[in-house]
Amino acid sequence: MNRVPAFFAPRDRIAVLTCEPVGVLDYLAPEGGVRQGQLVLVPLGPRRVLGLVWGEGTGDFDLAKLRPVARILDAEPFSPGFLDFLTRAADYTLTPLPLMLRMATRAPDIDQPPAARRIVVPGSGEVSRQTEARARVLQVVAEHGGASFAASELAQLAGVGTSVVKGLVAQGALAEIEAPRDQPYPRLDPALPGKPLAADQQAAADRLRGAIRGGSYGTTLLRGVTGSGKTEVYLEAVAECLAQGRQALVLLPEIALSAEFLDRVEARFGARPGEWHSGITRTERRRLWHMAGRGEVGLVVGARSALFLPFRDLGLIVVDEEHDSSYKQEDVVYYSARDMAVLRASIGQAQVVLASATPSLESWVNAAAGKYTRLDLRSRYGEAELPQMAAIDLRAEAMEAGRWISPTLAQAVTARLQKGEQSLIFLNRRGFAPVTVCRACGEQIGCHQCDARMVEHRFQNRLVCHQCGETRPIPQACPSCGVEGKLAPIGPGVERIAEEVAARFPDAKATVLSSDLFHSARALKETIAQIAEGDTDIIIGTQIVAKGHNFPRLTLVGVVDADLGLQGADLRAAERSFQLMRQVAGRAGRQSGAAPGVALLQTHQPDHAVIRAILSGQDEQFWDAEAAGRQAAGMPPFGRLAGIILSHPDLGAVSDFARHLAAQAMPLAEVGAELWGPAPAPIARVRGRHRMRMLIRAPRQAPLQSAIADWLAPVKLPTNMRLSVDIDPQSF
Ligand code: ADP
Ligand code: ZN
Repeated sequence: MNRVPAFFAPRDRIAVLTCEPVGVLDYLAPEGGVRQGQLVLVPLGPRRVLGLVWGEGTGDFDLAKLRPVARILDAEPFSPGFLDFLTRAADYTLTPLPLMLRMATRAPDIDQPPAARRIVVPGSGEVSRQTEARARVLQVVAEHGGASFAASELAQLAGVGTSVVKGLVAQGALAEIEAPRDQPYPRLDPALPGKPLAADQQAAADRLRGAIRGGSYGTTLLRGVTGSGKTEVYLEAVAECLAQGRQALVLLPEIALSAEFLDRVEARFGARPGEWHSGITRTERRRLWHMAGRGEVGLVVGARSALFLPFRDLGLIVVDEEHDSSYKQEDVVYYSARDMAVLRASIGQAQVVLASATPSLESWVNAAAGKYTRLDLRSRYGEAELPQMAAIDLRAEAMEAGRWISPTLAQAVTARLQKGEQSLIFLNRRGFAPVTVCRACGEQIGCHQCDARMVEHRFQNRLVCHQCGETRPIPQACPSCGVEGKLAPIGPGVERIAEEVAARFPDAKATVLSSDLFHSARALKETIAQIAEGDTDIIIGTQIVAKGHNFPRLTLVGVVDADLGLQGADLRAAERSFQLMRQVAGRAGRQSGAAPGVALLQTHQPDHAVIRAILSGQDEQFWDAEAAGRQAAGMPPFGRLAGIILSHPDLGAVSDFARHLAAQAMPLAEVGAELWGPAPAPIARVRGRHRMRMLIRAPRQAPLQSAIADWLAPVKLPTNMRLSVDIDPQSF
């Protein structure tokens, strides 16, 4: 494809992609002409809307009646490669192009010029009449030493009204100046020396550096147990990419917890990277978006949506913990950031590094088929040993009623306490108890809005729906029969395990790590840092602890219920449980020189294939067996799947419409695809909307997307009916 953006002379007929449902419309190029990829404002009816110069106009609408582009925006034009990526991502995910454009322009005040904006910086700091609100504002300014803010932003950070900030400016305590809105990021220095690498690290780093110097597309699966030094290796790839003068992107699954990673980047390259996730300020969001486009940020660390930043020249995309399910977005636009990273790189002559100790089956199969290069780090960095793994057979343990920690696990914890080492007790279930039942009538308390049980969260003293977030106080009387004092929690969540730990190890210091117990990412980060410093004896945690933290004093991991993820009809259940347990077990004994770690799995099925694979450490056999099973069933990654979800407040309406749609699915049959369903979706009601699902399975090479598009094109959705298409659904 042509890499030079086309230029359109004034009054040329051009096609502009608007971010409105109408999509592409013809306009006249403005005075001075315009380049392809330029963001513009165009008139649409009485409004002006955001648009992107897409190419030559095609319509036959009378040239004399076409309206001109209203204004060219001050953003760098999107490159032809980026336009190509947006088009192909839209085709792949069956997303309307206007929605793609919205994703790619998610920056505040995109229609505002980059120069000269009134901002607030520290002034005299002397306040005539101190109030609590004023003090808070000054404290925020002090905490962000050197930073500057928009008045509204500062007010928001301090949790006060804008008038408080303006008052401080009026009395000279804060000063207002004109300044550029968006400043380039400090340059990262790729020539600074990294850590001396171990032999297998060096070999992997050399391969990646060579691939990046080659300047063409390739994907590498970088596999190595937790602590084997994958991060050090891909930082070398980043260094090479920066040295080539190209930009690099590192995607992390849990960006709120990336503080440690940002520090490592700073230590390695002498400056901090750009950050892109939901926790950054509007000013930073805008700055990063513009600097990505201008090539004035070398490295961006971000959440999945960073993949839709308009990088000027992206040479490397790292997807860390590539198996993590948070890379799949299932809202508005359904996409897998891992798969879209590969697409973007293949269009832009870039390299992809997929890093994981427990790769997704997709990546494993692609590596086995030679589509990806596989690089393995075989041991932990230094002499740190892998944890020893063992099952605790719960059928043989003398379990007391109302207790979930077996005598064997309790003994192991006691031994750690005596040695001053940390233990982690893992249960992937938030709250106190998953079910609240009335012992008088048998009622299980459910959500009014969803087909889900309410979960008791005792620390908050509320029942919570994990689907829609609805909460209510824990009732005294049963909502069904009205009998008082008969409601009982059934089964454990982490809060209940914490209660058991407090009762059984009264002298130990325990900390619960569960996402719902922290009101901010910062609070969570602080707690994690304290744990890492050794300031706790027993950690009780959900899957949030499985992700990439270094706890040097942690030598025991106990999995309360290793069987939890093994049930369920989901074909990915085994893969998921395997990944999660392998990751959790990997928390034990990470540091070289420390005592070797032990991981104990409490299970009722010690002979289950997943448990056996985990215990034996035979990961490759596990993946090969999983792959063989999927192949035999024609399931992904050997066959293709798509999900269609319909939802409507009325059950009759949605099931009638689903059947009506299914009856018209001839275009699917023509390409050899099968339609399964409609059936109630795995969660059949969410937020008051009933959901029906259809699954489509197609052979690997079938043109699945175009068949679905042909099928759905003539469909008119009834009022209030929603339809979403999920290509490569995560659960099936
Ligand atoms: P992974 O990403 O595979 O989990 P890391 O790259 O985070 O592994 O490495 C684990 C630990 O070992 C980190 O604390 C890291 O700083 C350290 N480490 C890894 N490689 C080296 C090296 N070559 N020299 C010194 N320390 C290293
Ligand atoms: Zn609900």
